[in-house]
Amino acid sequence: MNAVLETTTLLINRLRALLNLLLQYVNFDSLEEAYKVVFELFYQASRHKPFLLKNLHKDARLSGMLQYAEELLSDVYEVISERNIDVLELAREMFRRASAELAEASKSASKYVIVCDGLSIIDALYIACRLKREGAELFIAPIINPGGATETYKFILEPHSYIQNADLTLNDIARRIAEKMRAKHYIVFRDYDESIHQLKNVRASDIIETMYTLTSKLYSKITRLKGGFGSTIIMLSDHGYDIVEKEGGLYDVNHSWSPRSLSVIASLLIV
Ligand SMILES: [Zn+2]
Repeated sequence: MNAVLETTTLLINRLRALLNLLLQYVNFDSLEEAYKVVFELFYQASRHKPFLLKNLHKDARLSGMLQYAEELLSDVYEVISERNIDVLELAREMFRRASAELAEASKSASKYVIVCDGLSIIDALYIACRLKREGAELFIAPIINPGGATETYKFILEPHSYIQNADLTLNDIARRIAEKMRAKHYIVFRDYDESIHQLKNVRASDIIETMYTLTSKLYSKITRLKGGFGSTIIMLSDHGYDIVEKEGGLYDVNHSWSPRSLSVIASLLIV
C-alpha cells in the first residue's frame, strides 16, 4: 500500500480509538469536567507535564489514553519532520475519505459547511464525543497543516488558485468547499482565532473557561443546524492552537509551527 493511504488510515484509526477510549473512561455527564480532561490529555501528550489536573500517567485508565494521544502526535510529527509524505496528498486523501462518507449519507436532506478559524483537535474530539453520546454517526480525521497558520492551510486546500490569488479568504475557502460538497449553506466560525490572539499572560483556568465556552457555543450551532440529526454537517478547521508557559504560572495562547505543536493539526468532522 502506498505511504499516503497507509498514513491516512493510521491517523484516522488512532483518532477513532482515542474517541472510543474517551467515551469509555471520561464522565460526560459533567460537561466542563469532561472538557478539562480532554484538554489535559493533549496538553500532557504534547508537553509532558500537567496543566490544570494531575499527572495522567499516575492513573491506570487515563495513562492508557495518554499513550494513545502521544502515539497520534508522534505519527503527526513524524510526517512533518521526515518529509517523506506530501501533506497536500495526505489532506486530499482525508477529504476523499470524507467525501466517500458523505456519499453514503447522500439521502440526507441538506448539507452545511462550518469552517472554523483555529479549532483544536481537543475541541473537535470533545464535540465528537458529545455527538456520539447522542447517537450520531460521525467521521473524524486529522489534517496536517505544518505551518499551523491559516495561510498554509489555504495553500493545502487550493494550491493552484492560492498562487494566482493571494487574497483568497477563509470565506472563499468555505464557499468553495460548500460548492464541491453541494452544501446548502456555509459559515465561518472565527471566535477561536479571535480568542487565541487575545489570550496572553493568562491563567490556565481562564484558558479552559474561554475555550470551553466557545466549544459549547459551536456544539450548539452544530446541533441546531443538524436539526434532530436530519442534515449533514461538514466541519473543518484551518489550524489548532498551543498553550505556551510563561513566568509566574501564566500562559500565552498562540498558533504557529513549533516542535510538538498542536497548532499543526487541523480537524475534519462530518456528522
Ligand atoms: Zn490567527
